[in-house]
Amino acid sequence: MKKVKIRNSEKEFIVGKIVCVGRNYAEHAKELGNEVPKFPIIFLKPPSTLIYDGDNIVHPSYSNEMHHEVELVLLIGKEIKNANDEEAENAITGYGVGLDMTLRDLQNEYRKEGNPWTLAKSFDTCGVISDFVSKEEYRLTGDEKIVLHKNGNIQQNSTVNKMIFSPMEIVKYISERMTLEPGDLIYTGTPEGVSKVERGDVLKSSIENIAQLENKIL
Ligand code: ZN
Repeated sequence: MKKVKIRNSEKEFIVGKIVCVGRNYAEHAKELGNEVPKFPIIFLKPPSTLIYDGDNIVHPSYSNEMHHEVELVLLIGKEIKNANDEEAENAITGYGVGLDMTLRDLQNEYRKEGNPWTLAKSFDTCGVISDFVSKEEYRLTGDEKIVLHKNGNIQQNSTVNKMIFSPMEIVKYISERMTLEPGDLIYTGTPEGVSKVERGDVLKSSIENIAQLENKIL
């Protein structure tokens, strides 16, 4: 079982499900030639795929196009179902930074065939997660910079308030479809600038005032 920590506290959560949002930044939807969605696009990652700051991301041999996606990640602290705005906001207990590593070649193939893209998003080491900063310690303003450097070069550079659906809206929407429980993580989508990684590349991911990660591709 995977765990996540709250920074500056003894608190730990066993990770439940990992719910991810696709195309939540308009510029990223555009760069992949996709329409801006009317509802959040939801998919899942198994918790067993999680790794942490400093761990290596293992490039599967069956893909030739692995992409980085830096994302704001929400940690759920309460059980909720059919939440209203306030309950959805209150269920978010902390913020972290994550990487949703994606096998873009497989994803495009699956999408073309009308099949689920699960295997493009669920290989071991495809989910990187930082420690979380609790909401008591830090209130998200939306102005936080979300940045990814690849081998020292800036590749993704946006702010959290460019999201189409806000953290509260995402949590509310998901809770209408599935119960959210303490320890569930929500990856909220990536801004533009996704690119292919090669073995040996080093990724530095950060969200201002929240956390940073450094991971190497093997
Ligand atoms: Zn993503």
